[in-house]
Amino acid sequence: MPDKKDIVFKGVAASPGIAIGKVFFVEGDDFHPVCREIPKNAIETEKMRLNNAVEKTRAEFKAIYAKIDETLGKNYAQIADVHLLILDDPIMKKDVYKLIDCGINAEYAVFKVVDNIVRSFESIENDYFRERKLDIQDTGKKIIGYLLGRQRKNLASLTKGSIVVSHNLTPADTMAIRERLVKGFVTDIGGKTSHTAVVAQGLSIPAVVGLKVISSQVMTGDIIIVDGNKGEVILNPTSETIAKYKREFVVQSEKKKELEKLKDLLAETPDNHKVLIFANIDNPDEIQSVLSSGATGIGLYRTEFIYFNRVNMPSEREHFENYSMVVKMMSPYPTVIRTFDLGGDKLTKIGLLNVEQEKNPFLGLRAIRLCLKYPEIFIDQLKGILKASAYGKVKLMYPMVSGVEELCEVNKILDEVKRNLKKENVKFDEEMEVGAMIEVPSAAMIIDAIAKEVDFVSIGTNDLIQYTLAIDRINENVVNLYDPLHPAILRFIKKIIEESHKAGITVSICGEMAGDPYYAPILLGFGLDQFSVSPTQVPEIKRVIRSISFVDAEKISEKVLKCGDRESVLKIINATYA
Ligand code: PEP
Ligand code: MG
Repeated sequence: MPDKKDIVFKGVAASPGIAIGKVFFVEGDDFHPVCREIPKNAIETEKMRLNNAVEKTRAEFKAIYAKIDETLGKNYAQIADVHLLILDDPIMKKDVYKLIDCGINAEYAVFKVVDNIVRSFESIENDYFRERKLDIQDTGKKIIGYLLGRQRKNLASLTKGSIVVSHNLTPADTMAIRERLVKGFVTDIGGKTSHTAVVAQGLSIPAVVGLKVISSQVMTGDIIIVDGNKGEVILNPTSETIAKYKREFVVQSEKKKELEKLKDLLAETPDNHKVLIFANIDNPDEIQSVLSSGATGIGLYRTEFIYFNRVNMPSEREHFENYSMVVKMMSPYPTVIRTFDLGGDKLTKIGLLNVEQEKNPFLGLRAIRLCLKYPEIFIDQLKGILKASAYGKVKLMYPMVSGVEELCEVNKILDEVKRNLKKENVKFDEEMEVGAMIEVPSAAMIIDAIAKEVDFVSIGTNDLIQYTLAIDRINENVVNLYDPLHPAILRFIKKIIEESHKAGITVSICGEMAGDPYYAPILLGFGLDQFSVSPTQVPEIKRVIRSISFVDAEKISEKVLKCGDRESVLKIINATYA
């Protein structure tokens, strides 16, 4: 059979590397069924179709709860039973039947009835009803999925070595997928710093996101190539293209081996200026790659992943067990544990959180704001972190701080937790350093005031760029405007470093910008103390640091600070690499 022609899709290079393999297609669950007219003589058949879908949904929920019962116990299975109660709700069923009797197709009838219930719940200020709203939506989506024959694929059936393609993968999906040893991630939506991208980098899995239409063009079993370096995906590659990419794969593996030789060397410029290179993780199973990368600490442990794919809150004990394991494995190197940054695109279905329906979740109840709204969840996490601090070097960090008042409020809670632990004679590090992420422009602007309240700061460039430039970091339509080299960003970074140093505290960058070798000379020249990057980027950043003198880096950064536009900045950097 003759080869088919390469079909090339261009997107955003989210995680470097090359993968060649078979597609495993993960269907989205945001169905918008169209309204169709059902002839009178087909109404009974339509009701049977509905009942059939309801029974399939029931069987699926029962299987899920049997699993919950087995892993978490009866109590949790009972809590989760609520989906089955919704399925059996006589009023809901009556309303759907009523619409079908009027000649409306079953999927649209379910969609309408669920939508009406959800709207009526919207105005009720009560956590219980908000949680039920999500349960009702979930149940509705499943029934509609069965009616359309498009239920979200059970990720458990994902085959090892596949390339996952989907319209969107939530951080919770990627958590479920990570256990299955996939070769690559490909999505329609998302940008370089969306959490799918961040997880893929953490796992060293090539990923291309923001491809807009790819999910409607491929099927499970298609052969594709994921080029995570260029941000391209090639569907039905010719044998020449496959051979070319196999050669490229070998070249990259060789390059990787060369970089591995830097593992035990210092991150030091030829004129003896030292910086620290730490790694970011979002799961303890990445520690092995942190240690083998040559990183000398964890600069960002994203703890929100503890809250995904579960129906109950993590207990204080779970927090403690998770963090103490990480801290022990990293000892004597430090671990910066960030308190939970849920909200934005990191949503959990744990129930308490009212974030699923926000119109602008990145500007909503996210991170430190959630901690203050639900102090009981926050306190459990703080206790776990403090207790873990008795087992190694722990630093605590708050995400999305926007002002001093907020910082004082969370510190008050922390002090209270410390007092109580002391009363109970629980051991913890009383000198544990506390830092703030600088990722909201207001915090960057008043960094002098914030620096007086903390022991260190870490710049979250992923969000700082998003909020400063007003560019949604996961929106593929504005991905070309998401620019770490915008003069406003460069000046903010310089200001944060300068003011923090004046206050005698250190500065790290833990956003993706720190892991890009192209930006490293500028950041070095600004006087950055610590680069915290995904484990795969550690050797490459070290290579750049070891190859440029600090004096030269300072000259470059002085020049870029004078630029008012991106083009001038680019010219200066490109001249550095010439
Ligand atoms: C950031 O915003 O740069 C950051 C490191 O945090 P996250 O990507 O988890 O929002
Ligand atoms: Mg952030």
